[in-house]
Amino acid sequence: GIVISYYPAEARIDLSAIRSNLSSVREAAGEAAVLAVVKADAYGHGRAEVARALAPAADYLGAAQLGEALALREEVGPGPRILTWIFAPGAPLAQALRADVELSAGAFWAIDEIARAARETGTTAKVHLKVDTGMARGGFNLADVAEASRRLRALQADGLLAVVGLWSHLARADEPESGATERQIERFEQARAAARSEGIEPEILHLAASGGALWHPAARYDMVRPGIVLYGLSPNPEVATARELGLTPAMELSASLILERGVPAQTPISYGHTEKTEAPTRLGVVPLGYGDGIPRAASGVGPVSVGGVRTRIRGRVCMDQFVVDVPEAATAGDTAFLFGAGDLPSADEWAQACGTIGYEIVTRLGARVPRRYH
Ligand code: PLP
Repeated sequence: GIVISYYPAEARIDLSAIRSNLSSVREAAGEAAVLAVVKADAYGHGRAEVARALAPAADYLGAAQLGEALALREEVGPGPRILTWIFAPGAPLAQALRADVELSAGAFWAIDEIARAARETGTTAKVHLKVDTGMARGGFNLADVAEASRRLRALQADGLLAVVGLWSHLARADEPESGATERQIERFEQARAAARSEGIEPEILHLAASGGALWHPAARYDMVRPGIVLYGLSPNPEVATARELGLTPAMELSASLILERGVPAQTPISYGHTEKTEAPTRLGVVPLGYGDGIPRAASGVGPVSVGGVRTRIRGRVCMDQFVVDVPEAATAGDTAFLFGAGDLPSADEWAQACGTIGYEIVTRLGARVPRRYH
């Protein structure tokens, strides 16, 4: 038949590395339960495969978008607890409740809509009350927590919902000493007291993602919500690299060289002729570009490994390909590794070269690149 899956590049995903990274974070987080964050297609690694690999070992799975959470339920089947936290007014909350997806409530409209969906479906919604403790992003202002709790309490008494969680998110947990996390913990305690004063005492308090789980023991509470460390990258390589944290990067991105050839000194390279060869040089062409999520900011700097030799991107990254220095012995069909584990450049190194974070390097990898699991 017609081969439609052909692509001269692939992302190999090591599911056993992801499982072992989960064990590492569980160990680091002490008694806390673990919600494995698989949003944004599991940070580009493939949600269904990652979630199926993690579900037996995680206490919860988490996906930011409601739509992702619904797909996730289909993928893992009934059983694993799933939390989602991003939806807009008019979202299909009834569908979420039928799928036993737990919902964050961080605004009065969300409480109203959750209650309406519970009435419609005859179910009891499991709700996590979200408080903004210092990010000015999602969640109730501290001053509204008592009122939100009163409303939740009334709906809980009617059997429409159960407040199972109280939660918030940290803005600067990747910095061990900023002081911001301690202030957020204080506000979280104030929110807890305000909720308690209205008879809301959820079983699961959760505040920390990877950075909090690793570097702020006081933020661990009942559950931590790691994402990036599961994929083997550091929340902040300046504080500790993935290797220092005992993590294994789970994604290895590679492609076949489609061309290699020698060019003379002073040969201008790629769009805009942003650089020229200094000396006679062997150049290769790698069939990955910004259409695959390779940052254009990697132009001239992205590290690549060919035949065990570290080289770099030359000139501008194009939509579907880029030019790279290659060693003498390289030929078309050889594998160029962009990032991975062990001695390969890491996604965190790519991030540093491109002025971004490892999160973005893996998450933005295009759907066009096939994922292969092992
Ligand atoms: N919890 C929430 C609410 C998030 O938005 C995120 C991701 O940004 C995480 C947990 C996981 O964060 P990290 O990947 O830093 O562990």
